[in-house]
Amino acid sequence: MRDSLLDLGIEPSWPFPPHLTNVERENLAQIIKDWASGHGLVVRPPPTAIAAEADPNRIAAVPAPVTLFPSGIARHTFRKGLAAQKAYNELYAAVSRDEKFLADIVKQVVDGDEFVRDLWAVHQTVKSEGYTQSLSLGLFRSDYMAHKDTSMLPPFDQLKQVEFNTIASSFGGLSVRAAQLHHYLTKTAYPLLQHPIAEGTLDLPENKAIEGLAGGIEAAYHAYGDAQPEHTKCVIFLVQGDERNVWDQRHLEYQLAKSSPTIPVFRLAFADIMKNTTLAQTKKRQLLYSSPINQDAKYEVAVVYMRAGYGPNDYPSQQAWDARCHLERSHAIKCPSVLTQLAGTKKVQQVLATPRSENEVSILSKFIKDDTPSATELWKTFTNIYPMDASELGLVARKKALDPNQCQDYVLKPQREGGGNNIYGKAIPDYLKSMPESRWGSFILMELIKPEPQRNLILRNGQIEEGNVINELGVYGACLWDQKSGKILHNEEAGWLLRTKGDKSEEGGVAAGYGCMDSVSLTLTNIDIQEDMDAAAQE
Ligand code: ADP
Ligand code: MG
Repeated sequence: MRDSLLDLGIEPSWPFPPHLTNVERENLAQIIKDWASGHGLVVRPPPTAIAAEADPNRIAAVPAPVTLFPSGIARHTFRKGLAAQKAYNELYAAVSRDEKFLADIVKQVVDGDEFVRDLWAVHQTVKSEGYTQSLSLGLFRSDYMAHKDTSMLPPFDQLKQVEFNTIASSFGGLSVRAAQLHHYLTKTAYPLLQHPIAEGTLDLPENKAIEGLAGGIEAAYHAYGDAQPEHTKCVIFLVQGDERNVWDQRHLEYQLAKSSPTIPVFRLAFADIMKNTTLAQTKKRQLLYSSPINQDAKYEVAVVYMRAGYGPNDYPSQQAWDARCHLERSHAIKCPSVLTQLAGTKKVQQVLATPRSENEVSILSKFIKDDTPSATELWKTFTNIYPMDASELGLVARKKALDPNQCQDYVLKPQREGGGNNIYGKAIPDYLKSMPESRWGSFILMELIKPEPQRNLILRNGQIEEGNVINELGVYGACLWDQKSGKILHNEEAGWLLRTKGDKSEEGGVAAGYGCMDSVSLTLTNIDIQEDMDAAAQE
């Protein structure tokens, strides 16, 4: 048996990034800027890069912020993250089918959360007249950070779930491009550095997020069945009018055009739902779409893929809520339905992750059989999350949240998506005190995951930033299920995302300007080497 990693030709720790001269930095930055524009690793410019007045016709695109090098992720943690996804898909499909469970969740947060209240009201309205579509599509993303578990020797990385997204899970398109960029650099630029990284040194896994997510939309499109004879079946991408992350979405459209060229795909702004769609006067209430460029062509919408509607800003008026209700009443397959959106609230995550005492059954076991390998793997990804209500556990959490020292290990989260909504560490006590206690129950308190920083360089708006960074791995899932029978028609792990941010930054959102795109370079730890040796021994 070999006793040293070096004997195996493996570097004992992540050796990158190599030291770069200023000339090398500038050269790499130029290569990345050009590649990003050439391959659609781009976003509409933030106002800090190009002011709106300088681009009145909205023609500009700028490279998305991205790391100069991929980040090292232990192979076993990466594999575990991907392997857990199908079980997570099933779990959230099951949660979205459990109306009683969700009603209870809503009840717990509704005081102080009008948005959740209004979403629930949409479901109630549609339920009262009867849903006409029982198929439901989820394009999910489970986000993780690696927690160093020091209770074991040697310590090892365990993925801990940050959150589970059930609506508008973004960056599938750009994550594939970021992985391709780093792959390109391993072949062209890295081997030529003064401290070269020889081709073949980095183990870069393939990322199939674009195919995986588009594959979910295709599965739903086909499962929808035939349109009325006078209509052509189509897919709608429901988007925000002022979206900056356009090409991330476009990559999915381009994939559909490539793999299913007969599927018409239209982009519809959330604010235009009532202008461009109607419901057929039939029992099924098919969603009919007329394109503003050809009013005569009538389409029947098989799938509504929502990249909007996840937060209160998309609902400035009652009309916007009426529009959401109009979609929900329709026969189109929604990605997601209101119930699936509600299944993605942080409160659901907290309730599922709340540990029980030895003799109590877990809430998770309502949805996924206890003691199965999948349930065990899911449990390992949970971290401590507490309610902030007046229950016994909630009172413990309130104490932690209000204590000026203890609060530093926590993040306080409302039931919101899209970044910029959480309250971190020291800011928690004053924030809580600024509102009536009756609203506290609409938040959850989550222990901060503290991944080990690595070094990297980030190219953002043409400037290079260098320093310690931490990574967040997202794993996509595509799941199509029957809401009534529970039958699962499509269940796939659908690629991954690596986002990276400065280790002092709290939020990680790329669109919100906190984080950047990155990709995975697999590293081998003792666990991985042991796994390989075990596999070899079995052969
Ligand atoms: P949102 O739905 O707004 O994206 P998240 O729960 O994903 O909210 O939190 C936003 C960001 O905050 C995450 O991407 C992550 O960088 C950071 N974050 C959230 N929860 C934790 C946690 N428990 N530990 C460490 N960082 C966290
Ligand atoms: Mg998030």
